[in-house]
Amino acid sequence: MATTAAEILLPTVVRWKNGELFEGTVCPSEHRRLHIEMLHRQTSRLIELAAAFRNDKGSLVWITRKREDHYLLGGGSGSQTWLEDLLALAAHHHAKNRELFISPVQRSAPGPGKRFVLGSQWLWVDVDDPQRFPALWAFFNEPTKSLPHGRLPHLVIETGGIPAEQSDHDETQIRGGLHAFFALDRLLPAVTLITDDGAKYTNPAVSIPDDSDALNYADRQTGEMLEGRVINEIERANLRLIHALGFRYDAYGKQIPTVADPACSHRHQPMRLAGSRHGETGRYARVIYADFTAPPFSYETLVGDLPDPRDQPAIREHRSGDSNFDDDDPYKRIPILDAYERLTGWEGSTRHKVRCPHRDHPDNDPSCDLKSDYFICRSCSAAGGIYQLASAVLGGPTKHLRGDAFKSAKNLVIQVFGEL
Ligand SMILES: [Zn+2]
Repeated sequence: MATTAAEILLPTVVRWKNGELFEGTVCPSEHRRLHIEMLHRQTSRLIELAAAFRNDKGSLVWITRKREDHYLLGGGSGSQTWLEDLLALAAHHHAKNRELFISPVQRSAPGPGKRFVLGSQWLWVDVDDPQRFPALWAFFNEPTKSLPHGRLPHLVIETGGIPAEQSDHDETQIRGGLHAFFALDRLLPAVTLITDDGAKYTNPAVSIPDDSDALNYADRQTGEMLEGRVINEIERANLRLIHALGFRYDAYGKQIPTVADPACSHRHQPMRLAGSRHGETGRYARVIYADFTAPPFSYETLVGDLPDPRDQPAIREHRSGDSNFDDDDPYKRIPILDAYERLTGWEGSTRHKVRCPHRDHPDNDPSCDLKSDYFICRSCSAAGGIYQLASAVLGGPTKHLRGDAFKSAKNLVIQVFGEL
């Protein structure tokens, strides 16, 4: 691996395809190459490379996620230049001091949302706190019935998100923010839908009408609308790993992961690219370890014997007209408590019942619950997310919210929260 003089060098350990072990330092662009080649040398469809910058408040602002030219084919597509193309795009943004991210999954069409994801040959976990590393190493090395050598990941990235101590210039020390990636021997599809009579559909067609909040699934061949149990397979498998690493119970009996971050289980999220700089700390992300030799895991041996968490967010019952949970609409990330307080002007609470937000329901003895991402009135059964809440405030429907009623609700949300 060639490096140019006077450039930053970052340590790594690589086991090459011929079994040879490299232990040394290489420049950031070589880290980018290792990371992308490892993840996507077999990917036949689209890979997202994403760039972002930090605004004055220090938060990350995406600039490429809606640009089609940032979704490129992988090494399994037959393209001879796939890796150079991705690296050139990465180098372009890196030169402009932007933060870089790569998606571990493959997409059927360019676009940031979950519905564009076809499947993944990778599962992954994110562990930020160095005090949790011993639990991570123990999990990697713990033998199982089918894996006598444990579950060693194929790729480990340090994200550079933990600042370097001023006295400590030892770059070989791992400070925190670790992403561990496990290769699978087949593409795990993004979605399985099982209808009430047991028919199974892999990656059904998804549509999101412009004039509603609904998410519709349909048979790709016949166009028939589908209802039933929707399994988000990648999230489900990642959550099994996340919970197997460790969890505690909160006061309500909910399982809270204590080692890995459940927010990183989502399939549509790009992950920080090695050989790029973290905007908060100025430190480089790097490949700690990449193993091109180890055979991939089968789904069954890697996560097949791990239990699902008790509250399973990756599986839900879908009925037609249900609210679209998978969208990456920024308004849907507003906690329902904030939405309630701003849209009604009343004080809210997630601990005790609050007044129903519906204009036509004078709820003097409060009967409405605010959960993290939805509200539900136990008396008039108005319920839903932020748009249903806005519709309720306007005296509109909350079930099958579409057409003009949806547009009015959306306008109110934009009026109150501004353009996001
Ligand atoms: Zn009500």
